[in-house]
Amino acid sequence: MQLLWKTTSERYIADRAWLGATLESCPFHPEGGCGVVGHGSYPRVSPPGMRIPRFLCPLARRTISLLPEFMACKLSGTLADLEEVVTVAEEARTQADAMRVLRPDDVVSSVVLSPAKRWLRRRQRWVAEVLSAAVTLLALDISAPLTLAKVREHLGIAAVLLALRRRMPRQIHALAAPVGLGQRGRR
Ligand SMILES: [Zn+2]
Repeated sequence: MQLLWKTTSERYIADRAWLGATLESCPFHPEGGCGVVGHGSYPRVSPPGMRIPRFLCPLARRTISLLPEFMACKLSGTLADLEEVVTVAEEARTQADAMRVLRPDDVVSSVVLSPAKRWLRRRQRWVAEVLSAAVTLLALDISAPLTLAKVREHLGIAAVLLALRRRMPRQIHALAAPVGLGQRGRR
């Protein structure tokens, strides 16, 4: 299973922060005594050099990963990467304009290839889902259509996805990945 780890991105890789990760208590046995131990770490493709610390509960025979809170879940890269992509799309006049910035290699003259369109639409949908959930769960007074820009302005913070993740700790396993830790929406 995965838990979120409150840690910052700035020097995470340079400091090999995963080596110093500790688990406060076993999620399966919060009362302790199960002998949960460090179980190494595993790499993520992006950002380069990223590793996720892992623990093992011998009693439950389950591993526990500590996902740094700035990392996307079940998606390569960081929440900031995802937010940047969807922000570019929000600010672009057309989808084709957005793709020329985000995926220049997939834009052939004026034609945007459909895998690239789907790549963007998936990200837009994941973000739309979490914004919608956040407005309900956090009772934010923001009018539709929801955008990152509106939520950014409403909350007065730069990094919306990270802020929403931090504000919904009790729902984090029910919320869909890549912002939540639940199953990712289909497609
Ligand atoms: Zn345990």
